[in-house]
Amino acid sequence: MRSSRMSCHANTTGISEMQVADVIIIGGGLAGATAALWLADRGHSSVIVEARDHLGGRARSRPHSGSGEIVEFGGGWIRKDHAQIRNLAARVGVGFTPRAPLAGRRDFLDGHPLDGDAQAAESEGGLARFCDDAKAAQQFEDLTLSNYFDARSISDAARREILAWWTISGSADAGRVSVGELLTPKVASGLLIKLEELADTVTGGVEHLVRRIAAVSGAEVRLGAVVRSVTDTGTGVEVGLADGTRLSAKLAIVAAPINTLRDIVFAPPLPPEAARLCGKGHGGRAIKLLIRAKGVVPGVVALGETAGLRWLYADHIAPDGTTLVVGFGLKDEVGEPSKQGVTAAVTAAFPEAEVVDFDWHDWTADPFARGTWVSPFLDTVVAYDPANWSASPHVLFAGSDHVSPEQGWFEGAVLTAQTAASAADRRLNAMKGKQ
Ligand SMILES: Cc1cc2nc3c(=O)[nH]c(=O)nc-3n(C[C@H](O)[C@H](O)[C@H](O)COP(=O)(O)OP(=O)(O)OC[C@H]3O[C@@H](n4cnc5c(N)ncnc54)[C@H](O)[C@@H]3O)c2cc1C
Repeated sequence: MRSSRMSCHANTTGISEMQVADVIIIGGGLAGATAALWLADRGHSSVIVEARDHLGGRARSRPHSGSGEIVEFGGGWIRKDHAQIRNLAARVGVGFTPRAPLAGRRDFLDGHPLDGDAQAAESEGGLARFCDDAKAAQQFEDLTLSNYFDARSISDAARREILAWWTISGSADAGRVSVGELLTPKVASGLLIKLEELADTVTGGVEHLVRRIAAVSGAEVRLGAVVRSVTDTGTGVEVGLADGTRLSAKLAIVAAPINTLRDIVFAPPLPPEAARLCGKGHGGRAIKLLIRAKGVVPGVVALGETAGLRWLYADHIAPDGTTLVVGFGLKDEVGEPSKQGVTAAVTAAFPEAEVVDFDWHDWTADPFARGTWVSPFLDTVVAYDPANWSASPHVLFAGSDHVSPEQGWFEGAVLTAQTAASAADRRLNAMKGKQ
C-alpha cells in the first residue's frame, strides 16, 4: 500500500517528538495528500497524521462484501470540468473510466410509478418553474428548500424529483439548508444536468489515487494516529495525539472534516464564528447504498421516493454478472437500511430486479467524518468565510468542506489544499528569512 519513501511509526505513549517535519498535515484524505505533494514540490517536508488505518478518508474504495469488486463507498464520480484532480491523477499515473451513458429514466411519486397525463403535467409544470428560478438563483438563496417549495407553490409531483436530486446535492434536512445547494444557474436547463456532471470514475478507485498522491509526495504517513489537540506555540505548532504522543513542526495544515473538529482542542481557541460552525457542524446526511441486483440494464436512473430511497442509478454490470445499482437517500428518512427495505425500494423502481445484497458505509456515524459531503445550514453560511479560519499564524485549514468554487467535491479538496499549501510555503519562506 505504501511506497518505500513513506514510513509509518508505531505511536509511542507519552513521547514528545521534536520537530518531525516542516508541516504536520492532519488528515490523510485527498486534501491532506494533495497538500503534502504541493509542499514537496516547493521543497518542504511533511508528516501526514491520519486517524484511520488507511488513507483516503471520504474516498473509500474497498471490495463489496458480496462480489468482492472494488467499489466506491464514499465519493466516486469526477466531473469533466474538474481540472485540478484530473491533472493530479495524470501526474501520478491514474486514469478514468466513463460512467455508463443514460439509457432511460423512471419517475416515482409516493413509491409508485408516476403515471397519467395529469400527474406528468403537474410534475413538468413544477420542474419548469424550478428551472426558470434557477436562472436567477441568487434571489432565493436565503430560503431553505422547504420554504422555497411553499413560496413558489411547487407541486408534490415536482417536489419528488427535486428531492431526489437533493439527496445527491444538498443532502440534508430540507428545512435547514439553502435551496441554493441545488437551485444553481447550471440546472436552468434541467435537473438531469446533475447526472451528466457525474461523468467519470477513477480507475482503481479514488482511495488508490489518494495513496498514489501521498506516495509521490514522499511524506511520512502515520496511520491510526488520532489528533486531540493543536497548539500554536507562537513560534511553531504542537500536535497532541490520543495516545499521548506530542509532535511539533513549524506549521500545521488541518485537513480533517469540519464535523470532526469539535473533537480537537485548539489553543488558542478557534475564532468565535469558526468555533460556532464546528459546534453545529454541517448537515450532510446522505446514505449511499451499493446494491447488487440481477436483471437490471445499466444506465437507467429512477427518481422519486421509492420506499425510502430517492435516487437510484443502475451503474454497471459487475464481473460476476450482477448490476451494481447505486442508491441514495437521506439518513433521517431511510434509517438503518435493511435487505427488506432495500428490496422494496429497488423493486418499486425496477420491478424486473432480483436484489442479491447491498453494502454501504455509515458516514454519519463514522467518528472521523460525522457526515457525508458539506451541506451548510442557512444559519452558519457566514461562518465558512475563510476570514474566520485564518487567525492563527501557524495553523492553516484545508478540505472540501471549506469554501472554494467547488466546495463539497473532490475538486474542492484539491483546491483548498493547494491554497493552504501555498500559504504554508509563503509562511515557511518568511520564517526562513527571519532566521
Ligand atoms: C457518500 C459520499 C458520496 C460522495 N460523492 C462524491 C462524488 O461523486 N464526487 C465528488 O467529487 N465528491 C463526492 N463526495 C465528497 C468527497 O468524497 C469529499 O469531498 C472528499 O473526499 C473530502 O476530502 P477531504 O480530504 O477534504 O476530507 P476527508 O476525505 O474526509 O479526509 C479527512 C481525513 O481526516 C481524518 N481525520 C478526521 N479526524 C481526525 C483526527 N482527529 N486526527 C487525525 N485524522 C483525522 C479522516 O479519517 C480522513 O481521512 C462524496 C462523499 C460521500 C461521503
